[in-house]
Amino acid sequence: MPNTDRCLFCRIVTGEIVAKKVHEDDEVVAFNDINPQAPTHVLVIPRKHIPTLDDLTTADTSIAGTLMVRSAQIARNLHLSSDGYRVVINTGEAAGQTVFHIHAHILGGRNFGWPPG
Ligand code: AMP
Ligand code: ZN
Repeated sequence: MPNTDRCLFCRIVTGEIVAKKVHEDDEVVAFNDINPQAPTHVLVIPRKHIPTLDDLTTADTSIAGTLMVRSAQIARNLHLSSDGYRVVINTGEAAGQTVFHIHAHILGGRNFGWPPG
């Protein structure tokens, strides 16, 4: 169920807040990050409100798998596969998570350092 009272990304899912969507289907929505950290920066979110990676349970196995598979398909559609790209799921405050609706960042179009900051 969407948590439209409090969650920014649930409100993007319902269309209450406008985002530049690059993909949507029955399970996930993907849109451009409003503050891009790379030439391509897309967020992929499940329609279901799950706050963090840490909240996933075995009941969410299908959603979690879909999030990864769709991220790869979207990256391919955005022509990121040949050069490579990064997929990041920040989990909790120490990791820099600011929106508590699970999301995969797809970052591409430049080289990335390791370890990340
Ligand atoms: P995180 O810090 O991992 O929780 O990532 C949250 C991301 O959401 C950040 O990269 C923000 O730039 C992005 N963001 C916040 N508000 C919006 C919005 N209205 N539309 C698109 N991206 C957003
Ligand atoms: Zn939400």
